[in-house]
Amino acid sequence: MFITNDMCFRLKEKYGTPLYVYSEEILREKCRDMKNLLPNKNVRINYSAKANTNLEILKIIREEGLDVDAMSPGEIYIELMAGFKPEQIFYISNNVSAEEMKHAIDRNILVGVDSLSQLETFGQINPGGRVAVRFNPGIGAGHHEKVITAGKKTKFGVQKEFIPEVKAILQKYNLTLAGINQHIGSLFLDGKAYVDGVKSFLEIAREFPSLSFIDMGGGFGVPYRKEEKPLDLNKLGDELDKVLSDFLKEYPNKDVVFKMEPGRYIVAECGILLGTVHSVKKNYDNTYIGTDIGFNVLVRPVMYDSWHEVAIIKKGDGAGTGEETATIVGNICETGDILAKDRKLPKAQVGDMVVAFNAGAYGYAMSSNYNCRLRPAEVLIDKNGNDRLIRRRDTLESLVQNFITE
Ligand SMILES: *Cc1c(COP(=O)(O)O)cnc(C)c1O
Repeated sequence: MFITNDMCFRLKEKYGTPLYVYSEEILREKCRDMKNLLPNKNVRINYSAKANTNLEILKIIREEGLDVDAMSPGEIYIELMAGFKPEQIFYISNNVSAEEMKHAIDRNILVGVDSLSQLETFGQINPGGRVAVRFNPGIGAGHHEKVITAGKKTKFGVQKEFIPEVKAILQKYNLTLAGINQHIGSLFLDGKAYVDGVKSFLEIAREFPSLSFIDMGGGFGVPYRKEEKPLDLNKLGDELDKVLSDFLKEYPNKDVVFKMEPGRYIVAECGILLGTVHSVKKNYDNTYIGTDIGFNVLVRPVMYDSWHEVAIIKKGDGAGTGEETATIVGNICETGDILAKDRKLPKAQVGDMVVAFNAGAYGYAMSSNYNCRLRPAEVLIDKNGNDRLIRRRDTLESLVQNFITE
């Protein structure tokens, strides 16, 4: 953990819980890992902002020299606010209205489309424009069925058999295909799936000899379980470099830019989630540690059966407590409201704290007001070790701000 146990209690005193806490140092380190992945190639890293759209986090990522992906006008709005230039933003649209496409076009932001029908829509509203197309190479990967985003059973991308149709629509509207993109899925710890995905994707790229960029997607995993090995970036970098070098030997545009879109890799490990133990009980054969970390705060375990390492931090010296197997639950009125099931943990007491690790990606970003709970606050620990509030906790007023009360 990047903060001491004492510091956890101090942050709780100061900001309350549940609380997301981020390390600036780790965030910067992860940005640099990605920037250094392919030192010999013409590469841009597009941070996939949906993983964490906190304004201060985005500013740090921009300072590190990364570009960004956007998935919605909302993300575009925050990214511009964080200081990204329109040309640094890539709007990866999925089943959007013509108005949404136009929102990006009007701001000089490149739009990627996800189907032949959306390419038609783009052509109609922006004839003669630049566009990107997302392809589905027929290979997918991921930690859960719900996060496999290519292959034969997903809504994403244009299958390669439709390349002639893509070309016909480009010609019909006099469009320039600036680039092609793919994203095979989320969370691989073995680079092989990625390299295989890139290889078959490059087959598609060969069909379009004057692309300015080829965007290979994200999905770089992090070790959520203690026993998992981190992704071997040196190995992945070497293998990718070789595949891309071979490709470049034959590809006409030698200046083509290779893009990657890591989301989770950039932000997961810089974030932890702090909560408070409010009750400990036995229900028949199970021990439940009741906390304020409901699935409105961190939904990944409920949504994807995801594993987060957890710890109990004892008040005071925590001496003489022993261990037991317990299930950590939240305060939401649902049986499925489980953060961590059957874990061996120090015996918890009311007033102890609980920490969930690797919570920086798809944590706050997927939080909600379910049960009319307030979404948590977020704090950044800067490079000098100082804490700074980077998002206020919701208030009761913010819960009702959209009601019509007149
Ligand atoms: C979500 C997403 C990513 C990032 O995925 P990670 O698993 O967080 O790296 C990249 N590209 C696209 C198109 C995405 O939808």
